[in-house]
Amino acid sequence: MSVRVRFAPSPTGYLHVGGLRTALYNYFFARKHNGKLILRIEDTDRTRYVEGSVENLIKTLTWAGIEFDEGPHIGGPYGPYYQSQRLEIYRKHADLLIEKGWAYYAFDTPEELEEARQKSPHHEFKYDRYSMRNQFTLGIEKTHELISQGVPYVIRLKVPDNQEIQFYDIIRGEISVNSKDVDDQILLKSDGYPTYHLANVVDDHLMEITHIIRGEEWLPSVPKHILLYNAFGWEIPKLAHLPLLLNKDRTKLSKRQGDVAVEDYIAKGYFPEAFVNFIALLGWNPSADREIYSVQELIDKFELEKVNKAGAIFDVVKLDAINAKYLYSKPIDELASEFRFWVEQRGYFNLSDEYLRKVVALLRERVKKLPEIIDFAPYMFEKPKQYDLEYFKKHWSDTTKEHLENILNLLRTIEDFTHQTVHDEVLKYLNERNLKLKEVIHPLRLAITGLSYGAGMFETMEVLGKDEVIQRLEYFLQNILPEIQNEKK
Ligand code: GLU
Repeated sequence: MSVRVRFAPSPTGYLHVGGLRTALYNYFFARKHNGKLILRIEDTDRTRYVEGSVENLIKTLTWAGIEFDEGPHIGGPYGPYYQSQRLEIYRKHADLLIEKGWAYYAFDTPEELEEARQKSPHHEFKYDRYSMRNQFTLGIEKTHELISQGVPYVIRLKVPDNQEIQFYDIIRGEISVNSKDVDDQILLKSDGYPTYHLANVVDDHLMEITHIIRGEEWLPSVPKHILLYNAFGWEIPKLAHLPLLLNKDRTKLSKRQGDVAVEDYIAKGYFPEAFVNFIALLGWNPSADREIYSVQELIDKFELEKVNKAGAIFDVVKLDAINAKYLYSKPIDELASEFRFWVEQRGYFNLSDEYLRKVVALLRERVKKLPEIIDFAPYMFEKPKQYDLEYFKKHWSDTTKEHLENILNLLRTIEDFTHQTVHDEVLKYLNERNLKLKEVIHPLRLAITGLSYGAGMFETMEVLGKDEVIQRLEYFLQNILPEIQNEKK
């Protein structure tokens, strides 16, 4: 039987990084086994629905390079792929369960349920089918009467008493749960919508899903699903529940300790290849001493059996390190055209391709993400707005002004304004006066960039170009220096 797997997000706003990992593992698995990957939108909880989130999900998954074979955006033979468009199917299956005695009608009002919940010890509520308002306590005649009168009802799963429910998970091994710990789950709500459990099981069966690969948070739902598969007489797909994602302190990954939406990482400028590489290694690594993999390698090496049971720590430092490796190894041309997007987003237009290439080549090794270059070296995009006074004080002496003026004159005479020539000429000037490079290089940096750090100063001057360097030096000497000297007094 050929492999069919699915990613089944609920459209509640954004794609969680854990969701991306689930989608990726499904994608790797499908591709490795020449199977199909299905996108199914589990939108039956209308209270959690967020407008526009399906489009956003698809956009984000596409950014990550995940390609689906069937789904709401591309169609396919098992549609519709929105659960909200399959309500008839769920209703039919719920009726079937009633017929077979695997499910029953219940009429409890929200207030009655709340009261029972309050009364239950430690608020560990379990629905008691022999004391609440349902077809067992009311009798079948009364039940049909209420239904025909239009009294709202739900359909609940009739969980058998004291039965061992056993199943095998590819990652977690044999699992056994006693049915006394399983609640009579609502399958169909009073508004006619199914709950997750019914819709999920029905769709996985009808869409011929062979392997269910999803987050560990769904493991407690499995016993209910097993009961449903058995009730329908269906084969249970193979199961694999992926380990939790954790914060560095080993608590469950949460918004409070950092970003959890993939969209946030896109906005920060991580490369999709790097982000996918990082996410793919949360809970699995094909070899202990390597961390950079192409998507094709991840597909080729992927094995569900090798996924860890233990939670995986989401470490942004590691993500940055991986992103930086991609940044240092990608072709400059590719980086430069991508960089234009970030630069323009910050309002810097009219920069030539050539200039952007040079800026990226000069500065990429100083940052972890492409757009960080703009914050690290704002002086490559506009004249300094501020000057670091501490740096000024530290490196300024009575003779500095004179040397800067002389070097300015010297620069004016240089035709071939490369870092090598500028370096050689400045050094010649210093040697003739028995001066050290540090006596002028820091003041030069301050005057040209305003900052105390950056890439090599001669290289920076070459990229900025002769005219710009001269203009900045002149401006500093005429306008800024008198000002800061005044302040110093
Ligand atoms: N709709 C569930 C979710 O939002 C899907 C869980 C599953 O894959 O069964 O994650």
